Amino acid sequence: MAVGGPARWFVNVDSAARLCEALDLAHSRKWSVLVLGGGSNLVIDDTGFDGLVLHINLLGLQTNMEGGATAVRVAAGEPFDRVIQRLVGMGLGGVECLSGIPGAAGAAPIQNIGAYGQEICEVVQSVEAVSLETGMTKCFDREACDFSYRNSLFKRDPHWVVTSMTLFLEPSEYGNVSYRDVQRFFSASGTPTTLSAVRDAVLSIRRSKSMVLDPNDPNSRGCGSFFTNPIVEPDVINRLRADTPDVPAYPTQNGRFKLSAGWLIEHAGLKRGTRFGRVGLSPKHALAIINLGGACAKDVVHAASVVRRQVFDQFGVVLVPEPVLVGVALDPM
Ligand SMILES: Cc1cc2nc3c(=O)[nH]c(=O)nc-3n(C[C@H](O)[C@H](O)[C@H](O)COP(=O)(O)OP(=O)(O)OC[C@H]3O[C@@H](n4cnc5c(N)ncnc54)[C@H](O)[C@@H]3O)c2cc1C
Repeated sequence: MAVGGPARWFVNVDSAARLCEALDLAHSRKWSVLVLGGGSNLVIDDTGFDGLVLHINLLGLQTNMEGGATAVRVAAGEPFDRVIQRLVGMGLGGVECLSGIPGAAGAAPIQNIGAYGQEICEVVQSVEAVSLETGMTKCFDREACDFSYRNSLFKRDPHWVVTSMTLFLEPSEYGNVSYRDVQRFFSASGTPTTLSAVRDAVLSIRRSKSMVLDPNDPNSRGCGSFFTNPIVEPDVINRLRADTPDVPAYPTQNGRFKLSAGWLIEHAGLKRGTRFGRVGLSPKHALAIINLGGACAKDVVHAASVVRRQVFDQFGVVLVPEPVLVGVALDPM
């Protein structure tokens, strides 16, 4: 978001030994630790972080054939989209719709990233992580990661440094076109839905919404979606539909429903392009809060607080921020 302040101490973690050394130092000095990937899903206070920032820069990608499928071990510092580009190039399916998501691979399991009909949890075989408390390495299988919508064990209990993840991928000629926008793209273009065509389609759709980080696109100066889509009980849907019959709601597990946070924001009277001083809603996407230039972290959380309050006043639904807030918080509800 181009906001925030300096790190008191900063280590470029480019090896397991460096990580171990840095954690020992933090323990002995009783420093707080912040794990940093690409910084695309963080809002850090303008005073910075008064502790040790570990920038995870572990690199490497290894593949291993297992039957007809391929296990791919990706080190946490690999740029995530570069990994997707390689996997699509290798003819491996299951991740093509995650094209264009910024950040490092190690952050992908943290909030179980997802887009256009795929989530990383569908292909994660295991995640290797080092405990911030004990320095011990542990391998979590998919079940132990306890993935759910934009959440995981690692987000709920941020005491782990993810050092690598292993994906289990099947070869595939064609990509996933289950998502409506992707289907529309192909019915308009008429081209075959090969893996690389689906990757290109997703990148093109994302670019049209400024959801690909691009220094030349000021509307991409944000965290992506600022709020998760609320998951609510059926009684909330019944209450909402009594007043607003056209409210979109999608059934999920356990009889609950997913609402569209973007729809709620726009129908609470906050149109795309609404400005709050130096921060605004993207003109392309109501769910993205962007830095219009010269904003500080306080401007971002102020705008997010206004949006959250307005949606609550209109619909009685509390939006939950998707980015991790460090040293700042939204106004209490
Ligand atoms: C334009 C744009 C579009 C986006 N689109 C999407 C999207 O479609 N879907 C989606 O899910 N997200 C999306 N995002 C959000 C973001 O890109 C992802 O959440 C991404 O995985 C964050 O990666 P990062 O390396 O930048 O993480 P950071 O911002 O550096 O960190 C995010 C959190 O993860 C923790 N973390 C990072 N690395 C590690 C590690 N190795 N071990 C332990 N903890 C770690 C950090 O401490 C922090 O709590 C988008 C963001 C932007 C700016």
